[in-house]
This record gives sequence, C-alpha cells and structure tokens, in this order.
Amino acid sequence: MRTLVVGSGFEGIYTAYLLATERGADVELIDPCTKFGGIMAGVRHRGVALDLGCQVFDNFDAGITQTLQALCRGKWKGLTLAYGSRIHGRTSKEMAIPDLSSAPPEVVERMLEEVLARAVPAPAGLSLKAHCETRWGPTAARLLEPACLKVFGMPSTQLDALSRIYVGLGRIRLADSERSMLLRSLNTELDERLAIPRKDGPGFYPEAWAHLPATNLLPVPESFVGFCDEARLALEEVGVRVTMQTELVGMEPGVPARVTLRTSRTGQIRKDTFDAVAWTLRFPSLEPLLLGEDTLSRHLAPMGMHLIYHFTKESNLGELEYFQNYDPDVSLFRWSAMGRYTGQSTAEGLSFCCTEIPDHGALGTDADRAETVWSEVRQLGLAEGRHDGRPHYVHAPRCLVRYLPGFSAAADQVMRRLDVEFPALIYNEPHIFGRVAAARYIRQRALARL
Ligand SMILES: Cc1cc2nc3c(=O)[nH]c(=O)nc-3n(C[C@H](O)[C@H](O)[C@H](O)COP(=O)(O)OP(=O)(O)OC[C@H]3O[C@@H](n4cnc5c(N)ncnc54)[C@H](O)[C@@H]3O)c2cc1C
Repeated sequence: MRTLVVGSGFEGIYTAYLLATERGADVELIDPCTKFGGIMAGVRHRGVALDLGCQVFDNFDAGITQTLQALCRGKWKGLTLAYGSRIHGRTSKEMAIPDLSSAPPEVVERMLEEVLARAVPAPAGLSLKAHCETRWGPTAARLLEPACLKVFGMPSTQLDALSRIYVGLGRIRLADSERSMLLRSLNTELDERLAIPRKDGPGFYPEAWAHLPATNLLPVPESFVGFCDEARLALEEVGVRVTMQTELVGMEPGVPARVTLRTSRTGQIRKDTFDAVAWTLRFPSLEPLLLGEDTLSRHLAPMGMHLIYHFTKESNLGELEYFQNYDPDVSLFRWSAMGRYTGQSTAEGLSFCCTEIPDHGALGTDADRAETVWSEVRQLGLAEGRHDGRPHYVHAPRCLVRYLPGFSAAADQVMRRLDVEFPALIYNEPHIFGRVAAARYIRQRALARL
C-alpha cells in the first residue's frame, strides 16, 4: 500500500513508523520545512538544545513506550519528574493539573457532589464555560475561570469547549487518594474527571506503570532536538522515504488519491497518486485545501506564547522540575528546569530553565517579560540566585490557537464530510493535543482505517 504522510511533526513520525512496521506500507513522509520534526525540531543556542514544544514523553502505555524507544533508537533514559501546580495561591507538589482540593472543605464537598451529579459525557459544541459546568458543575467552573482568562486573555463564555486542551483542563483534583480510588471503583467514568493523586506510584494509576522503568522517557543526547535526528534515521531504517521542503498543495478525492506536491527548493510541481494519505496536521489547514471552504477559520484566533530560557547555575534551581501555574496574578504559565533533567550545561557551566507565558501584549518587551518572569520564579521558590543576565526568548510556533464559539460544531460537520468524500484519507482530530494522546489515537483509529 502506497501511503503519503503529510507533516514531519511527532504525529507524522509516529504514523509513518506504524504504517511501515505494522502495516508493511510503502511510506513517503513530506514536510515543507528544512528542519525535520515540526514543533519538536527545537533550536540550538549557546551550545545547548532548547525544546520549543513538550520536553519529555509521558510513559503510561506499554505499546506506545515501546515504539518511542524504537524511534529513539535506544538513545533514551527513564526519568521520574517532580511536578507541581499553583492555583488560588496554594502550591501543591506532585500534581500538574488544577488542584482545587485546597478550597475550603465545604466548597470541595459541594464540588464533589456536583461532579457526581454530572457523571455523563459533555455534549459537543458548548462554550468552554458551559463545558466546565457540564463536566464539573458551576462551583469548579467558577474557580477555574481565572485560569482560562489568564491563558486566553478572554472569558470562557467566548471560547469553544475545545480550548480546554491548552489549559490542561482535562481533569481536576478534588479528593485524596483513598477517596478518589473509592469513587473510581464506584463509577469508572469519574476517572476522566478526577485525578488520582500521585501517592503510591509514579503515575495516576500505579498499575499501568508498574512494568516501566520510570514515569517519563527522555531522548538523549540533546533532548527533542536529538530525538528528531534519531527518529529520522529510525524511519529510514524501516524504509520510509523522508522528503523535506515539499508540501501538499492539492488533493482530489478518490482511491487512489490524486495529490499535487510542490517542492520549495526547486519550485517543481509533482502530481502523484497514493492508496492512502495520512494527514497529521490540525485539520483547519486541511479544510480549504481539500474542500475549498473556509468554515473553521472563522472560529479560530491566534494565541501567541513566549518561551523564555534563563541560563543559571544548576545549584540555583529549586526542587520542582515541572510546574504549572494557574494563578492569574502571576505571569508564567509553566516552568520547567529542562537543563537539569537533560543534563545539558553550557561551556560556562550554566544550566537553564524554561518558562512559558501567554502573550496578551501586557508585559512589554522581551527583556521586560524576562525580568518579570524571573522574579516570579524566585518568589514561587522555583529558583534562587541570579540568572546570568542574558535570557533567550523564543516566540512559540504557530500551532497555538484559540477555538472560538462554534468551532466544535463546525469541525464535526467537516469531519463527517471528509469521511465521506476522502475515503483514502487518515486524519488526526483537532482535539488530540500532546504526544501521548496523539499516539493513542493514531494507534487505535488511523491504523484501523487501512
Ligand atoms: C509551547 C508549547 C508547549 C507544549 N507543551 C506540551 C506539553 O507540555 N505536553 C505535551 O504533551 N505537548 C505539549 N506541546 C504540544 C506538542 O509539542 C505537540 O502536540 C506535538 O509536538 C505536535 O506534533 P504534530 O505532529 O501534531 O504537529 P507539528 O509538530 O506542528 O507538525 C506539523 C508539521 O506539518 C508540516 N506541514 C504544515 N503544512 C504542511 C503541508 N501543506 N504539507 C506538508 N507538511 C505540512 C509542518 O511544517 C510541521 O512540520 C506543546 C507545544 C508548544 C508549542
């Protein structure tokens, strides 16, 4: 089976590898960029590799972990990260999702009752506010509102439910371990809503991790910049042809699918046929290309992020290695001491930490932002001492968008039409965010379509 995989980000790499190894497909992978890996491509700065998207692979599925190990070509190490989160002024360790259990006990009780009363899946097409209310009840929705405002710069009534993927509002923590386990045994659907604390094992669900060496997988050397090099070689070893600086610019429905590719290096147009096309990008960009319509873009708005890397002595970094901050009065959204866990340091003996902040234009220049964020990092106890005075700023890639009201409903329609009109197309859904979720989806659904 001749298959074209569109996009060399994590999803394209994973899809191409599975199609070649598990379906024996003849795969070509294309990408318009010069750098392989999409968001994972990263940058090199002052002798160290800086990641622009996520920094470690979560490790809670044996099948996915096995494939990741193969893609790293054995160059990985197990790593158990320390997590933390801050909401409503309280810092909780070992939990990177909103932890609302620090609210007054009567409020926690009320929220639990409301969650239990809503043990049904939320319907599609809601606003983010309505989605949170349906999922967790009005009290939790109210407590989460400042986190939405902080990240998106607009109230949750003006956002589509899908926007939750950017704030990590998949689950909340409300109960202690024992109570969560009891509730979970009574109602498995609650698993999706309530986090089980990291008490007895490295993950939310210790039994799922027991056979794995650590909570996270970290590619070595050079973290995800290095991963891209290894993954490309791993793909080529299983017969995938990687064609960079080439993009899909047209496609006609049918099996086999007729595609038009353009090579930016030479300007050449190539018309070709494939038995299947695996589209691994968020499908708003797919829609005008295939259907000549513009339904979804009306429901999208860009959301910029700034990544600020502070170079500092390793001894200045605090004990939490990954920290998610939902408090509206603090600018940084996430903080991670990447230099610490990648074991990279600069020639001057410095390591680095990375902070993410949403860009609503309020914090002035890059230098102003860096100063504000570093003082917050210190206030929060995540680092002490000084950075070396020369932070590195990166404006995060274009993938961050706000989903405005109506997006889910419009997306559903497009997906239904694509299913009918493009039988050869394997696509990824827009709500799949993060590499592990994407890998699950690809394994379960995309492979089943061939
Ligand atoms: C700031 C930031 C922080 C993040 N933090 C986390 C985190 O903590 N945890 C987590 O799990 N995830 C996180 N992510 C998300 C994670 O990095 C992404 O989910 C994942 O890397 C995206 O992979 P992808 O293949 O879907 O998309 P991409 O990496 O965007 O790949 C898409 C590729 O398609 C190519 N392309 C575009 N148009 C065409 C065309 N017409 N033809 C051919 N190719 C085309 C692009 O050039 C690109 O290479 C973060 C992302 C960002 C930006």
